[in-house]
Amino acid sequence: MGIERPIDFSKPRVLRCRCCGHRATFKHTWIERWKQGKEGCPQCGITSDNPESAVYDWDFSDLVSDDQTVLKLNWYHTTTHSVWPNPNFDPEAGLSTVAKEGMRKSGNPNAVENWVAKQKSKALHIGTYEAAIENMLRQLDTQRQVETQYYLYRVNLHQTSIVTPGVNQEPKSILGDMTLPELGLTPEGIYRYINQFEDEGSISLAIGKEAIASVQRITIPLLPDTSSLSKKIERELDAAETRKPQSQQDVLETIRKRPLMTNPYEETAQNLWDELSQSLPERLRPKFCRARDPRIRDEGNEAYSKVLPAA
Ligand SMILES: [Zn+2]
Repeated sequence: MGIERPIDFSKPRVLRCRCCGHRATFKHTWIERWKQGKEGCPQCGITSDNPESAVYDWDFSDLVSDDQTVLKLNWYHTTTHSVWPNPNFDPEAGLSTVAKEGMRKSGNPNAVENWVAKQKSKALHIGTYEAAIENMLRQLDTQRQVETQYYLYRVNLHQTSIVTPGVNQEPKSILGDMTLPELGLTPEGIYRYINQFEDEGSISLAIGKEAIASVQRITIPLLPDTSSLSKKIERELDAAETRKPQSQQDVLETIRKRPLMTNPYEETAQNLWDELSQSLPERLRPKFCRARDPRIRDEGNEAYSKVLPAA
């Protein structure tokens, strides 16, 4: 079992201005205002819409700064794969015959073999608990597949793994495309980079499969959820389902000359997700609500019952 870091989605973050070099720690409430253009760099004044504006930087006091401590920490990863990393990973199995023919017709007779080799040499990515959870919320938000089963993996590293010196900027092709040779890594290698998108400013790792000593896995969400909070949510949604829609008295109704009806279930659910998300920093609330609630994008009532905790 490795060292566990305190979980805090709202921790202050370090920003470094690319225009004037000003570097400081900011609360997430300030960062939200900065993202909205309501705050500028305290030193040179440029706002977040400027190409030279600040980027997330790492906190030098972060435990991950120390090469040996990197190996002692618990690391996290979320994925839809029930076995990760898969020792029998076979990327070719996912290619249809037509796809393979198409790749070979592109001019390179070894196109399929090259593609398979590249897939197998891709780096794996692990990070803080917060980064792993934010990654899952982002995928749920963008891919709109609330029924997809996710898994949270806790990763421990081999104490003999090779940590590349220094902390790097996030590689440009980090969305799953960087290979170990591109990062200068062996299969036992570990590459530190500043995460710009999830748990911003935290340090994530790109690693070779052989750097992993062990993983532990839990399914998300944890079910059955028998907490009093889940029971309260179920009761409120059940009650909302029995309420009749009301005619809305507003200007639109007058213009349309047809009744505009309320949706008690949708309104109750929206209020509940809003209430639940208040404990999260502002940047995560929309992702959380949309991930839990596909009807925010008009995907039908049925989806709600599918994401509710089991009775
Ligand atoms: Zn500045």
